[in-house]
Amino acid sequence: MSERRIPQEVRVGERNVGPIDASLTPRYGGAATFAKLPRIDQVDRADITVAGVPFDSGVSYRPGARFGPTHIRESSRLLRPYHPGLDVSPFESAQVVDAGDIAVNPFNINEAMDTVQAAALDLTADGGRLLTIGGDHTIALPLLRAAAERHGPVALVHFDAHLDTWDTYFGAEYTHGTPFRRAVEEGILDTEALSHVGTRGPLYGKKDLEEDRRFGFGIVTSADVYRQGVDEVVDKLRQRVGDRPVYLSIDIDVLDPAHAPGTGTPEAGGMTSRELLEVLRGFAGANVVGADVVEVSPAYDHAELTGVAASHVAYDLVSLMAMRHEAELEAGAVAEAALG
Ligand code: MN
Ligand code: MN
Repeated sequence: MSERRIPQEVRVGERNVGPIDASLTPRYGGAATFAKLPRIDQVDRADITVAGVPFDSGVSYRPGARFGPTHIRESSRLLRPYHPGLDVSPFESAQVVDAGDIAVNPFNINEAMDTVQAAALDLTADGGRLLTIGGDHTIALPLLRAAAERHGPVALVHFDAHLDTWDTYFGAEYTHGTPFRRAVEEGILDTEALSHVGTRGPLYGKKDLEEDRRFGFGIVTSADVYRQGVDEVVDKLRQRVGDRPVYLSIDIDVLDPAHAPGTGTPEAGGMTSRELLEVLRGFAGANVVGADVVEVSPAYDHAELTGVAASHVAYDLVSLMAMRHEAELEAGAVAEAALG
C-alpha cells in the first residue's frame, strides 16, 4: 500500500505538501526522503530543496562520506513538523522537497564539482533555496560558485573543527581542506563577512592562521563558544553577516567526537550538539540563501549519533530558510497591497 500524504494548511500563499502523515503511516516504514518530505517530482514547485551529494574523493583521512546523504535521510525519519525553538512549521511555511542525490563522478574531482555547480544552479533556477547534504567538504566550492552566480559574493559562516583554507595537499588544489581558500581566490565570497566557528586542534604551523586572517576570516574557536557563551557568539556572528545573503556551511566535525563520531577527521574538544543548534537558531531572520551539512561518514558512526545530529542540523537550516521565505512572501504581499 502506498504511503498516505496529507497536505497541510498554510498561512501564506498556496498549500504546501508536507511530510507523510506519521499518524497514518509509521515513520520508520517506507522510503527515506529527508524528513519524509515529498520527492521533487511529486510536487509542482520547490521553495527549499534538499539534495544529496554522495562524494568523498576529496578526503585526506578517513573516507566514507559518500554514504552520508543516505545515512542522514535514514536518521531524519523522526523529525516532526513543528520547531518549538524557532516557533515555525517549516514545511507549512515553504514547499520543501527532497531532490535525491546528484550523480557525481567519483574518479574526477573537477568533473564532479562541475556537476554539483550545474545541479545547484538548476535546483535554484526559480529562486528557491538549496540545502545540500554531503559528501565531503570539497562540494562547498561548487555550491558557493552557484550561490555567487545567483546572489553575487556571499557572506559565509563556516562551522568546522578545521579552517579548510589550506593551499594544496599532495599537490592537489581541490580537496576537502581547501574549498574556502579557492573560494576567496575566485572572488565568490564577501570578504567583509567571513567567519569560522568551532575551530580547534593542532595545525601545521602558525602560518595557517596568519594566511586565514589575511583572507578576511574571523574566528570563533570551540573554546570561545564555551567561554563566551552562545549569545555573545551569535551577536558577533550576526553583526558580521548583517542582512547580506549568507551561506552556512556545517562540517559535522565541528561537533565533539562524543556527539558526532561518524566523520573523517575527528578532533577532541568540539562543540556539543546543543551549542551548535543554539548558535544556528541565532540566525533566525537572516537571509540564508544556501547551506550544507557535510563530512558524515556512517561507517564510523555509533547508534546513529552522527546521523541524528546531522539530520537535526539540517532541520534547523531548513527552518531558518523557511522563516526567511515566509517573511519575504509577507513583505511581497504588503508591497503589492500598497500598490493596490
Ligand atoms: Mn573538518
Ligand atoms: Mn571541513
